Amino acid sequence: MKKSVFFIFFIIIALNFIVAPTCAFAENKTPKIAFVIDDFGQDRAGVEQMLNLDIPLTCAIIPFMEHSIDDMKMIIKNGKEAILHMPMEADQYLPESWYGPKMIKNNYDSKQIKEVMQECIDSLPDIKGVNIHIGSGVSQNEKQMMAVMEVVKDNNLYFLDSRTSDKSVCNEVAKELKVDYQYRDVFLEKTKHAEYNHIVSQIQKAIDIAKSNGKAVIIGHVGPEGGEVTAKAIKDSIPSIKNANVEIVPLSQIVSINAYKQDK
Ligand SMILES: [Zn+2]
Repeated sequence: MKKSVFFIFFIIIALNFIVAPTCAFAENKTPKIAFVIDDFGQDRAGVEQMLNLDIPLTCAIIPFMEHSIDDMKMIIKNGKEAILHMPMEADQYLPESWYGPKMIKNNYDSKQIKEVMQECIDSLPDIKGVNIHIGSGVSQNEKQMMAVMEVVKDNNLYFLDSRTSDKSVCNEVAKELKVDYQYRDVFLEKTKHAEYNHIVSQIQKAIDIAKSNGKAVIIGHVGPEGGEVTAKAIKDSIPSIKNANVEIVPLSQIVSINAYKQDK
């Protein structure tokens, strides 16, 4: 009798060792998707619909715009994550109004960059990270990105490279400075044009990336580039994301899976 009790006890203990790590392993391996929605703070198209989505979202706010502060408050009130959508200059001429009143220009030195970045971060106290608005010029410049990342690190934030330039040096700089870093995998909309079927197929593409890489970061937009069409396409895609056993999380939950560790 005593022997059989001991044996059952032994089996329970052994099962704990065998089953528990397997479960933890399976849970950690659930593929994750983060939706990042750019261009909060200005145009109202799709803002309400996006914030009403019943999923985790990471919302990127352009600083010092008419609605920047109100949008940050609404984002937090709706249980979403807020990040700074830092305007940085393109590698070609674009109208100044596209950037907003505060930006990093291609000719800024490190001191100027640090000052304007800190001003923008201080204006949005609830942010968890920073990503790039436009920025195909600045993101190619190693010295400028060093200054950007130093401010990101000093403020305990993470950095998302929107990858608006295929010559971006963000990956290398983040690695050197050990900044929490991710890059964008998929843009939802075609440039300056939101098309429902295209957005749905881009979300499917992100599901496939998440299944093979363990994570995928998607960028969509409020305003004329995306707005209500993008919000509806995301809403309609939630069942297929769940059916694929892919978890939707705020960007902060996958940002610690450093992209540079996966790349090398
Ligand atoms: Zn933007």
